[in-house]
Amino acid sequence: MDRLHARYPFFVAAREAVDAAAVDLGELVAREDDPAVDRAVERVTAALTEHSTGEMRRDARTELLSYPVARVLVSLVDDHAVTGTYANAEAATAYERIVADLDTSSQLKSTSGSSLTVERLLSEFDLSDDVQPADGSAGTGGEDRYHVSVTAYLRLAGDRDEDAWRLPRRSLADGRVPVSRTELLTLLRGAVEERVAEGLPFEVPEAIGAHLTEEIAAIEEVLSDPPLPTEFDAARPELFPPCVTALLERARAGEEIPDHSWYTLCGFCATVGVSADELVTLVQPDDGVEERIRYQLDKLAGEDGVEYPPPSCSTVQDYGDCVNQDEVCAEISHPLSYYEQRLETSDN
Ligand code: SF4
Repeated sequence: MDRLHARYPFFVAAREAVDAAAVDLGELVAREDDPAVDRAVERVTAALTEHSTGEMRRDARTELLSYPVARVLVSLVDDHAVTGTYANAEAATAYERIVADLDTSSQLKSTSGSSLTVERLLSEFDLSDDVQPADGSAGTGGEDRYHVSVTAYLRLAGDRDEDAWRLPRRSLADGRVPVSRTELLTLLRGAVEERVAEGLPFEVPEAIGAHLTEEIAAIEEVLSDPPLPTEFDAARPELFPPCVTALLERARAGEEIPDHSWYTLCGFCATVGVSADELVTLVQPDDGVEERIRYQLDKLAGEDGVEYPPPSCSTVQDYGDCVNQDEVCAEISHPLSYYEQRLETSDN
């Protein structure tokens, strides 16, 4: 199965690849320990807890098939908020991948030889007629600019709260809205969300649902978890959980840190109120890493606070970053809960 399809399982071609492989979802979920089912549960639980879809598996089959199974799980849970959160998380993950794949010098190619390009994305979401490159903007050294039809713009940016996206703030010309390439990719994130949400929830045949009772129970357990603490009065690094302290030390030592670990570190710091300047002071990175820290914290910050909290302890464990556990770790399931507890029990 194709790596491009595994990264973008909502593409029409990915769905066709699943059809062509004649995969029977009923047989797949009935199989003991099929990795695609475990990955599907993670897709949904990570969406609920971290607003991402969790760590991608190396095996393209597992990754690709986990998507239709995750849609089955979301349909079985049948909760409007879960459906919305899931679609949003798939879109957030896709956005990260699109940005990375478009910027990579060796373009990601499918087995059919086609690469991920802006044009391909526009065609995928039937937006080729709605979005045109602005005359003379491409290849001039600055950021490419595009003109988006008002209808498509309103459809894809309509839910965005930020003032900058409101139509009166835009210089409309001939029924088209000028946008930068970065803004266009944000609009495409909206298109992904729309695609993922399409048709959810659907009626799941009893024969399939009967094999997923444990998986549904695992998702419902996550739903019943108390909300994460996200408001803190003080940022006190001496009370940070051992996993975050260890990541800070590794960053300070100039170690190469994988993306998901940076996400844990920056997500935690952003949520507890460490600013980009403060984190730079704590890590004392070289220029390249400083840029990365500032970019990541900027990305995590939403208008109403941090949009995406750091991952739970079980995910941090999966990443291999759960180290030096202490007695508080035995009582919590999230690094933010650890910090909350340490703040409550510290003397001042
Ligand atoms: S148990 Fe949780 S808080 Fe403690 S080190 Fe591991 S991931 Fe961090």
